[in-house]
Amino acid sequence: MSVRVRFAPSPTGYLHIGSARTALFNFLYARHTGGKFLLRIEDTDLARSTEESTRSILEGLKWLGFAPDEEIVFQSNNAEKHRAAANQLLAEGKAYRDFTPKEAPVDGSVKEAIKERARAQGADKNMRDNPYRDLPASESDARAAGGEAFAIRLKVAESGKTSFDDKVYGLQEREYSETEDLVLLRSDGHPLYNLAVVCDDIEMEITHVIRGQDHLTNTHKQILIYEALGRTPPVFAHLPLIMAPNKGKLSKRKHGEVVSMTTYRDAGFIAAAFRNFLALLGWSASEEREIYSLNELIRKFSLEGIHRSNAVFNFHEGDPKRWTDDKAL
Ligand code: GLU
Repeated sequence: MSVRVRFAPSPTGYLHIGSARTALFNFLYARHTGGKFLLRIEDTDLARSTEESTRSILEGLKWLGFAPDEEIVFQSNNAEKHRAAANQLLAEGKAYRDFTPKEAPVDGSVKEAIKERARAQGADKNMRDNPYRDLPASESDARAAGGEAFAIRLKVAESGKTSFDDKVYGLQEREYSETEDLVLLRSDGHPLYNLAVVCDDIEMEITHVIRGQDHLTNTHKQILIYEALGRTPPVFAHLPLIMAPNKGKLSKRKHGEVVSMTTYRDAGFIAAAFRNFLALLGWSASEEREIYSLNELIRKFSLEGIHRSNAVFNFHEGDPKRWTDDKAL
């Protein structure tokens, strides 16, 4: 089996150092194994995706030297295929039409009552109580033919669990009862994230998904979609997060330019050095060493060397001499 990995950024901002590190690890894994490194721009969130962001992501990757081995895939071009997959699952009875009207405007007190009920149900909430889940196919077909709007939801089995052996975090399990009947297609025909990712990873023949650990919960949902489609999921390796100095979430909104790749390019950093710095945010070759050439990183990189604990990006806000991590400087 030859390895095929992908970096799949959403173009909703500039290339963040966490994303650049994800790109680097995918790139190193592909080069280490003699596989292919692919790039997919996940531009399905039309409201938030911008061309400017895509440009800035491509520029950041170019600066770092991570050229994809095949043509770039733009996820929005695949929407028809995503819809076809949802319709196939519907036809096979593995998904159902949900005719619940889109949130009708409700006054404040009703909203409060709904919230209160959700709170009362708490953890015991039955995720399989959608009234349309077991609507006879003939009735569902007739209502759809009559022009009624519907979303398509995956019919998640009542009992059982999803499990996968994450290459970094080990065995991950989740009871089906903890996962809702997830929406695959919105009522306006818009495919949702988990469906799109699975369809595209299948089509691109991705063998290993290497991405941030904030996607661990999504992975369980994606495995349900793989199972429904009768496909074997890829190998998953989730990466520790990169935290701000106060161990809070590192974000472009809060921390600004210090997390943007192009800041370093524009400040005259050497790409090779910055790659070296990124490689050590959450990975090590189990040796006391900090300086690596790209070829050395490629030779030494392994999924086993990725840490489980989050990495800290140690910059000093308000101190112009130490505006970014000392190690990067
Ligand atoms: N587009 C997703 C993100 O930027 C990544 C999805 C994935 O790698 O599967 O977080």
